[in-house]
Amino acid sequence: MKLRVVVLGAGFGGLELSTILSEALAERLDLTLIDKNDSFVFGYSKLDVMFGRKAPEAVRLAYRNIVKPGVRFRQEAITAIDPEARRVTTDGGTYDADVLVIALGADYDLNATPGLIEGGNEFYSVAGATRLREVLPTFSKGRAIIGVTSTPFKCPPAPSEAALLLHDHLTARGVRAACEISLVIPFGIPIPPSPATSQALLAAFAERGITFVPDRRVRALDPARRVAILDDKSEMPYDLFLGIPKHCVPSVVAASGMTEDGWIPVDRKNLKTRFPSVYAVGDVTSVGTAKAGVFSEGAARIVAATIIADVQGGEQPSAYKGAGSCYVEFGADRVGRVDVDFLSGSSPTGNFIEPSVALVGEKQHFGSSRRARWFGL
Ligand SMILES: Cc1cc2nc3c(=O)[nH]c(=O)nc-3n(C[C@H](O)[C@H](O)[C@H](O)COP(=O)(O)OP(=O)(O)OC[C@H]3O[C@@H](n4cnc5c(N)ncnc54)[C@H](O)[C@@H]3O)c2cc1C
Repeated sequence: MKLRVVVLGAGFGGLELSTILSEALAERLDLTLIDKNDSFVFGYSKLDVMFGRKAPEAVRLAYRNIVKPGVRFRQEAITAIDPEARRVTTDGGTYDADVLVIALGADYDLNATPGLIEGGNEFYSVAGATRLREVLPTFSKGRAIIGVTSTPFKCPPAPSEAALLLHDHLTARGVRAACEISLVIPFGIPIPPSPATSQALLAAFAERGITFVPDRRVRALDPARRVAILDDKSEMPYDLFLGIPKHCVPSVVAASGMTEDGWIPVDRKNLKTRFPSVYAVGDVTSVGTAKAGVFSEGAARIVAATIIADVQGGEQPSAYKGAGSCYVEFGADRVGRVDVDFLSGSSPTGNFIEPSVALVGEKQHFGSSRRARWFGL
């Protein structure tokens, strides 16, 4: 009998899990990987798209390239999840699982921030980043705000990266002197687990004349008056608003009854939910790491090792550490790195590696190695 594994979501978590299980279990595996999209896009590619460094078509990795023993990809929208029965319904059929893994990531609720749709932009979706390719070249003078609207949000360095890359974009166009850039973040420092990374970012902002507004979030935009309203009711005028929208679980997850306080709770050691043989990994959970691809991937590795140990009767893996490396775009063609460990100690730690050209190459390798492993490209 083959093990029927159903993996919901082909992002960082789903792709890594499917790859490892295929390698380890091959002919004993009957894995269905389901995603509504036809392709995967790395989160950081959205920055490349919005600043015109790459075309939207160039950053898509088509799921039709997934050819792995024991794995079948289905492009279908998931419409219901029954975690008790381990049964999943999609617009294409019904799937019953021996082991069910939910890796559906985080969605955005743009309506949660009044005025954002009418008066602002977001760069957290491929569609939003693609629209900004047209908008950014038209911004030549005035005030730009990069503003976080709520927590948690994906890839905590991304708003800082956007500010630094916007500086480069405006400088290259010769209009930087006519523009102001402000960054509104709901933390005291840009990357709370890493004071050293935060210091380096604050120094980079100061050098470039980027205003850092800590401990604030943007509650609403008033498009008629072109002002952003912060959570302390203060107002900031803007001509260009780049927002990080409120994050939430996909509606099908909310409807499944699996969430508590908005996210799926899991045992942080092994990513098990309270439903037998149902795991959840990545952004869809409240596991206690930041929401970033490297952590979804790390969680998927623990789930894969647990499933393999169950099938082969081997040793269970050691507890999930929530550790991973995030690359940080510093502008001026330099990338830094922060190695974060969320769960090993009593509080998160983050070791900083100075921005360099060498790390640009390392980040490229991060992408190309996953392209090869997950898609055979
Ligand atoms: C601007 C930006 C920069 C980033 N930079 C980095 C970075 O440098 N490093 C890093 O590690 N992370 C980065 N991230 C974060 C990273 O992209 C996410 O944290 C990561 O993708 C989460 O992986 P996941 O597997 O949990 O979910 P996802 O990768 O989001 O995958 C979830 C999948 O579920 C699918 N899905 C959802 N609902 C349904 C449904 N109803 N039916 C079918 N399919 C569905 C989606 O289509 C999606 O493919 C960045 C994010 C952004 C926005």
